[in-house]
Amino acid sequence: MQAGKNEAQGKSTLQEITSGIDCFLFMPSQLFPPPLPPATRANALQQLQAFARRAHRYGRERNFVVADHVNVSRLSAAIQHRLISQNEVMEVVLQHHPLGSVEKFVQEVLWRSYWKGWLEMRPSVWHSYLDEAARGTDAKIERAEQIATGHSGCAVMDDFARELIETGYLHNHARMWWASFWIHQQKLPWALGAKHFMNHLLDADAASNTLSWRWVAGLHTPGKTYLVRRDNIEHYHHAPGVAGMEMLEHTKAAEIRDSALAPLLPYHALPSNCPPDDKRTALLLHAEDLSVETTELSHLRPEIVAFYRHDEESSSSPRHEWRNMAFADANRRAEAHFGRAVASLSSVANIVAWLIEHRIERLVMMQPMVGPLRDALTALPDSLSNKGIQLLCLRREEDNRFFPHATSGFFTFWKKASRRLTA
Ligand SMILES: Cc1cc2nc3c(=O)[nH]c(=O)nc-3n(C[C@H](O)[C@H](O)[C@H](O)COP(=O)(O)OP(=O)(O)OC[C@H]3O[C@@H](n4cnc5c(N)ncnc54)[C@H](O)[C@@H]3O)c2cc1C
Repeated sequence: MQAGKNEAQGKSTLQEITSGIDCFLFMPSQLFPPPLPPATRANALQQLQAFARRAHRYGRERNFVVADHVNVSRLSAAIQHRLISQNEVMEVVLQHHPLGSVEKFVQEVLWRSYWKGWLEMRPSVWHSYLDEAARGTDAKIERAEQIATGHSGCAVMDDFARELIETGYLHNHARMWWASFWIHQQKLPWALGAKHFMNHLLDADAASNTLSWRWVAGLHTPGKTYLVRRDNIEHYHHAPGVAGMEMLEHTKAAEIRDSALAPLLPYHALPSNCPPDDKRTALLLHAEDLSVETTELSHLRPEIVAFYRHDEESSSSPRHEWRNMAFADANRRAEAHFGRAVASLSSVANIVAWLIEHRIERLVMMQPMVGPLRDALTALPDSLSNKGIQLLCLRREEDNRFFPHATSGFFTFWKKASRRLTA
């Protein structure tokens, strides 16, 4: 994740990256809306193939923020919702290149597993974030609103704010700069900024987002904060002479108290395999895994299938639009694969009533991870057990393989995970 190490090496230039690629330099206040990240599995696989051919350039070029973001994969929304899996991403890239020339990319893909595994074993950090974000920020709310909507007075940050709202995507380096500007330069509460990202990012993820904001704030590795610097932005993003750059000089780290208690819980592996068809079984799909037909669940012969849709309070319109397309694609594939119409459900009560109506004995689903979906389904296990219906939650093999290693820092995790890149 950290751009720091490569920043120091900084061998490429913006011109080198954009030469030979059909793109424009990213000029502040001259935003070219890039195409929407792929919202179907077929498009995501296509984009993955196209990216894999140039993945060996990623390590050198990834920190530059250029128009259309041609130097990164832009697969995060597809990966987050599992239109494609991290395994598939790594396998395709490793078919094109030896690990040595794409290690940086593989490492970044595994940052996601690290964050997800880390939060699975420390769920209290998510709930502390929710409490902190709900508390808001009395006097500073007006300033927070100005910055979030692109009226901070610092043109480069305002461009990023608008790009986030209009497209639902920001490059990793822009996310780091913007979060640092919010926390350390403007001294705004980190949880409020994290909530703004959760509302707008197409790839919004409880683990990657909360923990990245905590990392920028200096809460993940105490004493290590990420400070935005003018010269760094000028090197990695074409921004000469734009208004408000002086605001980025001499930023001092904000003093932040960590309210999260983070006891490490033991990792509970869940089965990845399909159960035998000895009970009347229903399959419940949801937004965290939009291609269950590619998992061990492909062998399941369910009586009925439904998609549980957890609607968000304040989802932005690009996010809403992207999710609608991705959900429709997932439902089409599930209908074709399982040969059943996919019902739509939106509450625990609906789920229980649907199962009873069809005399179902067992509900199978992929285990929701720490975050909003799991919170929305908290009552499900008890509600089912009260009705004598078995609940079987599965976890992808790749998650069981990587998550248990996320007990401390990323590089300890990487040492172990990199030995087990393939199943
Ligand atoms: C403040 C902040 C908030 C963030 N919030 C999210 C979020 O809500 N959801 C999210 O998926 N990522 C988040 N990230 C991580 C990262 O910025 C995005 O995953 C990445 O920019 C997505 O663009 P890409 O697909 O082009 O990535 P690429 O650079 O092409 O990387 C390939 C894939 O690796 C994974 N990845 C890359 N970098 C990271 C990282 N630092 N942490 C975790 N996974 C990574 C993503 O799945 C990504 O699609 C955040 C980073 C910061 C600094």
